[in-house]
Amino acid sequence: MSSKRKTQAAVIPERLQRAVRNGSVFHAYLMEGPRGETASLAQAFAAAVLCSRQDGSVCGNCVSCRQIRDGVSPYIFQVRTLEESDEDLGEEKKTGKKAKPKDSGKIRDKQIEDVIERSRGNALGSSRIITIIEQADTITPRGQNRLLKVLEEPPEGMMMILMTENSEGLLETIRSRCQLVRPAGNGEELPDEGNAFLKRAVAAAAGMLAGVPAADLWKEIEYFSDTREKAMHFAETAQLFYRDLILYGETGREDLLALRAYAPEIREAAESTGRAAAIQAAEACERAVRDLKAIVSMKHALRYMMFDIQLYRGVNRGDNK
Ligand SMILES: [Zn+2]
Repeated sequence: MSSKRKTQAAVIPERLQRAVRNGSVFHAYLMEGPRGETASLAQAFAAAVLCSRQDGSVCGNCVSCRQIRDGVSPYIFQVRTLEESDEDLGEEKKTGKKAKPKDSGKIRDKQIEDVIERSRGNALGSSRIITIIEQADTITPRGQNRLLKVLEEPPEGMMMILMTENSEGLLETIRSRCQLVRPAGNGEELPDEGNAFLKRAVAAAAGMLAGVPAADLWKEIEYFSDTREKAMHFAETAQLFYRDLILYGETGREDLLALRAYAPEIREAAESTGRAAAIQAAEACERAVRDLKAIVSMKHALRYMMFDIQLYRGVNRGDNK
């Protein structure tokens, strides 16, 4: 049932819709959550990215939307595990019960090679090539390392959506190159105060590294620990911010930033932050996200995050080249 493509539209989080509207769609997304939900969200988001309206929605009428509906879009590629794509395999056909090959249930290295080749040879011109990889945590370590190469230097027009029920199964280096998205189940949306929320989150993330007194950050923490969604969204945004700092420090390229709209803030923070401190800060956020998924008080999770970031703030100051 899960492999039947449901056309039922998923709610595209406002953050992703905005990315389409602003032309700031990132090249790699990691969608974590129950399979049915991530699958329909990945489909909907891919359709919105390709839809000629470019307003974050799916019009259903343009050429791209019709191609997608008819399952003939030349711009979307689905990568599934062996048992689910075995009807495409040719010889070992549906004999009722399938003789399970040993890599059944896994994404094979060969499939990843195909993904890479396709991403590099974007012969279709200006449009994006979107690859959706299901159960990405089943990619072998070798496959993940190959994939990492294209995520690090994304070819023009490439966009990847990795789906997983458990992102811990992916290399940290892969996770850090992707924007994390969790489908908000049952139509529950993230609190959408839109840009205002993002702006405040970025300011707080920058403030934590810049030595703003804890007492001032306290009321920000209070604000962000209002609901779990909000707390999670804040921790994820802060993490993106710190990763952008690292990326910017390494490459100097603004086009690779996840929070491109905040390039000036990122540039400024990158000048006064050491790489080691930024890495520690990103890790503190990741721990906070894990804590928020698992436990107790949201305020505690965010406070620990803040303490960790402040603690490491002075470490290796200025070791950026
Ligand atoms: Zn459309």
